[in-house]
Amino acid sequence: MATFDREDAAKLARHLHSHLPSDPALRTKTLESLLVERGFVAPETIDAWVEAYSEHIGPKRGAQVVARSWVDPAFRARLMDDATAAIAEFGFDGDATGHLKAVENTDTQHHLIVCTLCSCYPFSLLGMSPAWYKSAAYRARAVREPRQVLSEFGVDLPETVGVRVWDSTAELRYLVVPQRPANTDGWDEARLAALVTRNAMIGTARHLKTEAA
Ligand code: FE
Repeated sequence: MATFDREDAAKLARHLHSHLPSDPALRTKTLESLLVERGFVAPETIDAWVEAYSEHIGPKRGAQVVARSWVDPAFRARLMDDATAAIAEFGFDGDATGHLKAVENTDTQHHLIVCTLCSCYPFSLLGMSPAWYKSAAYRARAVREPRQVLSEFGVDLPETVGVRVWDSTAELRYLVVPQRPANTDGWDEARLAALVTRNAMIGTARHLKTEAA
């Protein structure tokens, strides 16, 4: 007769679990399998989305928008007034982002973006969101202790700089326009865009570097 060893069974369970993906990843995979199985979506479509957002869009579109706002005051005014309409001028393919609001850092104001409810993010401008953006810790702490969170990202703000935290939703997402670095006079849009990082447009970075200068 087969014997049942509780310790062996526990060991086996631990072994199996260590090879399973994390809960959210598993749920996503299950959902994807069901959608494909029921014929709601083709697997090639999902692959194409992932590739588009991770390989082709990246944060480059957002960087182009920021660079133009630095060199073109009329565009900057339109961007701050209605970011959705202003960004439409670029004619980017796809529009998964919905309404957008641009918020501008100044010498006395810093902006930080979060989605406390889930992980809303301006995908069509910044590509795939970083894992930390979706973490429970970031979502909770960005609101409760933004200065501490910023400091952990290497942004130590003096008290003279205020922090405003914007909570994204499915309807309204945000783009931080970082400050244009000094010593970039005369740079063209493409050269400026290369300085703009994803984190600066989320607000977890503040001062852009100009090593190339
Ligand atoms: Fe969300």
